[in-house]
Amino acid sequence: MPGDATRAIHHGDSFATETGTVMPPIYATSTFAHGNPGGFDYTRSGNPNFRILEGVLASVETCEHATVFGSGVSAITAIASTLSQGDLVLCEENLYGCTVRLFEQVFAKFGVRTEWVDFTDPAALTAIESRQPAMVWLESPTNPLLKVIDLAAVCSAAKSAGVPVVVDNTFATALVQRPLQLGATLSLTSTTKYINGHSDALGGAVCCDDPAWHQKMVFAQKALGLMPSPFDCWLITRGIKTLPLRLRQQMANAAAVADHLASHPAVAWVRYPLRADHPQQAVALQQMNGGGAIVTIGLQASRDQAYAVCKALRWFTMAESLGGVESLICHPATMTHAAVAAEVKEKLGISDGLVRLSLGCEDSADLIADLDQALTLLP
Ligand SMILES: *Cc1c(COP(=O)(O)O)cnc(C)c1O
Repeated sequence: MPGDATRAIHHGDSFATETGTVMPPIYATSTFAHGNPGGFDYTRSGNPNFRILEGVLASVETCEHATVFGSGVSAITAIASTLSQGDLVLCEENLYGCTVRLFEQVFAKFGVRTEWVDFTDPAALTAIESRQPAMVWLESPTNPLLKVIDLAAVCSAAKSAGVPVVVDNTFATALVQRPLQLGATLSLTSTTKYINGHSDALGGAVCCDDPAWHQKMVFAQKALGLMPSPFDCWLITRGIKTLPLRLRQQMANAAAVADHLASHPAVAWVRYPLRADHPQQAVALQQMNGGGAIVTIGLQASRDQAYAVCKALRWFTMAESLGGVESLICHPATMTHAAVAAEVKEKLGISDGLVRLSLGCEDSADLIADLDQALTLLP
């Protein structure tokens, strides 16, 4: 099999044989003439740009099928829409905020139940057996504390109980971790983040090997209207070509920044999966072939002081999202988790001084110097 970089760059048919175009065209069309050789009928249920991107995503993930959606949340909706009233989803307690909101504020109204457990605790494996859920929903590393879950162990327990496992692989990407090879049923990604990598499009994808699950995803794409736009697929197809290159630089920056900040007096703690002080470093080394490019730190600072540090940075834009070539910084206490109740934040470990860095492709020396100058604001 060709290497990851080759598979990320080369895609299948451009559906434009007469022109020899190196980059595929953008097929901006809502409908197709009946009986065309590509089998296209209407863009809500398929478009050449979807098919090109699906081919690359499946190839990079080394799986049979990929189905693309309009956003990561659309991909999550597609999977959740396969559940029935009364079904229980056993969820990792640190899922992405929008996944939690979707289950608790939307699917709960249709009778889908959720229970939240800590999947780093071996008791969670017995819960799969005793609670008999319809689905297990994991994320690793988690947001924002980068908890690492032993995916192979959970998938193996779920398999014995006949329960499908969904892994949100957005933070790692298929280049760092392959959930399907670790036993997951579905690997879901927000392609908005690392896959596209340029913060200029939204998208989501679900990868799987099982043809029945693939049919369910294709059905959800059209029946729920969760499809992406041809233009966004084109952008993401362009973006993924440099994923291996970008990620190499981003991960090197993340490791350098994590090590630098770990010895900074204003920093109480640093969380990065491959560091020796990460509580699940052994699991990370086993299932990930890199630490990813997110670093979470705890500043010795009040809420306002931490906010001021974020605002004083030059190369890190204070913004939600992650995974682009530009470095971003997020202060959950005033941004993503501002509306979360104090006791929930405390349980999730989200303190006022917690800051999440998404490392981009800049020069690490510039990023480190920038962090150092902003940290001089702290007493
Ligand atoms: C961003 C993100 C999502 C949602 O993706 P969108 O493309 O923003 O809809 C889901 N899961 C994780 C882990 C994310 O980081």
